[in-house]
Amino acid sequence: MIVIGAGFAGLCAIHQLRAAGFSVRAFEAGPDVGGTWFWNRYPGARCDVESADYSYSFDPELEQEWTWTERFSAQPEILAYLRHVADRFDLRRHIEFGTRVTAARYDGQQARWQVTTDSGVQATGRFCFLATGSLSVPQLPALPGLADFAGAIHHTCAWPAEGVPFRGRRVGVIGTGSSGVQLIPVLAEQAAQLTAFQRTPAFSVPARNRRLTQDEVRDLKQGYRRRRALARGSPGGIARPPVDRSAHADTAAERRAHFEARWRVGGTPSITGAYSDLLLDAEANRWAADFVRDKIRARVTSPEVAAKLIPSGFPIGTKRVCADAGYYEAYNRPNVTLVDLRATPVLAATASGLRTTAGHHDLDVLICATGFDAFTGAVFAIDIRDAAGRALREHWAAGPRTYLGLATAGFPNLFTITGPGSPSVLTNMVASIEQQVDWLVGYLRALRAGGQRETVATETAEAQWGARLAAAAQRTLYPQAASWYNGANTPGKPRQFMVFLGGLANYARICDDLARDGYRGFRAR
Ligand SMILES: Cc1cc2nc3c(=O)[nH]c(=O)nc-3n(C[C@H](O)[C@H](O)[C@H](O)COP(=O)(O)OP(=O)(O)OC[C@H]3O[C@@H](n4cnc5c(N)ncnc54)[C@H](O)[C@@H]3O)c2cc1C
Repeated sequence: MIVIGAGFAGLCAIHQLRAAGFSVRAFEAGPDVGGTWFWNRYPGARCDVESADYSYSFDPELEQEWTWTERFSAQPEILAYLRHVADRFDLRRHIEFGTRVTAARYDGQQARWQVTTDSGVQATGRFCFLATGSLSVPQLPALPGLADFAGAIHHTCAWPAEGVPFRGRRVGVIGTGSSGVQLIPVLAEQAAQLTAFQRTPAFSVPARNRRLTQDEVRDLKQGYRRRRALARGSPGGIARPPVDRSAHADTAAERRAHFEARWRVGGTPSITGAYSDLLLDAEANRWAADFVRDKIRARVTSPEVAAKLIPSGFPIGTKRVCADAGYYEAYNRPNVTLVDLRATPVLAATASGLRTTAGHHDLDVLICATGFDAFTGAVFAIDIRDAAGRALREHWAAGPRTYLGLATAGFPNLFTITGPGSPSVLTNMVASIEQQVDWLVGYLRALRAGGQRETVATETAEAQWGARLAAAAQRTLYPQAASWYNGANTPGKPRQFMVFLGGLANYARICDDLARDGYRGFRAR
């Protein structure tokens, strides 16, 4: 088995494949394990799914010995956890670090993948797992003159391990999505002057992060089995009871009280998960959006600044909802300025800052919190070719085509973990990763037992899955937003909704039914 990537997905795959008796060779471009949590070290980086859910369930002893200290752990703690997992289960010996896979070619006669790396190492394996991350290739702003900027430039996902000094400096942050929203309040307390350059305001709700008490940690450890079962049976892979009440079933006053109660609890699903139809019904969605808009007005002192921060033009939840700790309040500080790039676009970077149509902003440091070339970025960075030499990039030229988000017709023995077409980023990713890895390992065991060495998704299965994906998206409000879920943030990318919206539990049921039906949709030999 070849595994590419050593984040949550790669580590899980190595562990489970090895446990099933397969030999594994893994490659990781970075110098250590961790993936997202190795690269995104910006101040304020933390998960927005509760750590108790955003963690592996495969080993009860691991659950008991690891103690999460916060409701939403910060990047250093999650990285420490993944390092602990790698050491505890002796996974590092399978991984070649600092080694980027540049090409993968299928040998049809041998039924093997041959991979080439940037260090000159070549390897072959019967099966190849792309655990390369849905959000691992940075999206940089196309700013003229960026190379002329004399100060330091950092992308939030390529943050220097030694940190960046901000005290007494003039800092610009481009981008106000999840990373910008986490970073800005922290920087506001350190920088002499902070300028946030915003193109599209995001909806953000309070995370209400806090340290877990000893009692909570004890209860969590005692309740893990129940919690995991609840998470696995839920659409989002998180241990919250399902909500099946329509927003139309309540009066305006009842809705307001319900939103208020959930607002006090905090977290990304607090508002968009308050009713079952908030992402299906435009009017219901507007009630939720207006509630959050009112909250933004209340949190920001200046009505002019609040007006710029209030999202409009897309339904709440159809672009990623952020979870913050004092994001809007940061704009009440005298050292923080908001620049609305829709009103005053950036013209160019200069040696000393950024010039917009309204004037020049002097900066010592520029931070790009501009997100990722999502889903396909890391896949296309590898020159993947089938036995006839046809590139995966060509097969996906009009948008990614997969069966279950796991496999692609014409590319045997190649699997994408949380790939395009799976529930992935609209669920707790760790729960999705474990579900997909476990299912695939089950399939590989079945193939081995049957003496089969090759499997490929059929064209029909792939086409039917694509149609199902598109139909699921069309039933919701998601297509109304230009988002990274549908490729809109990356210039030149075909617009296609890339997430399966049926939810994790439903997806797992579909996968299990197919398995019982002889792994329908795959052709094996
Ligand atoms: C700031 C931030 C916060 C997030 N918070 C949450 C959250 O709260 N909940 C949630 O569910 N999800 C969250 N996510 C999504 C997160 O990416 C996933 O939860 C999860 O970490 C993905 O794990 P992965 O192993 O699939 O990918 P990654 O963690 O991205 O790991 C992929 C690894 O593959 C390596 N790689 C890529 N290409 C190659 C190559 N060609 N050769 C060798 N190595 C390669 C990369 O270096 C990387 O280390 C967050 C993402 C970000 C950026």
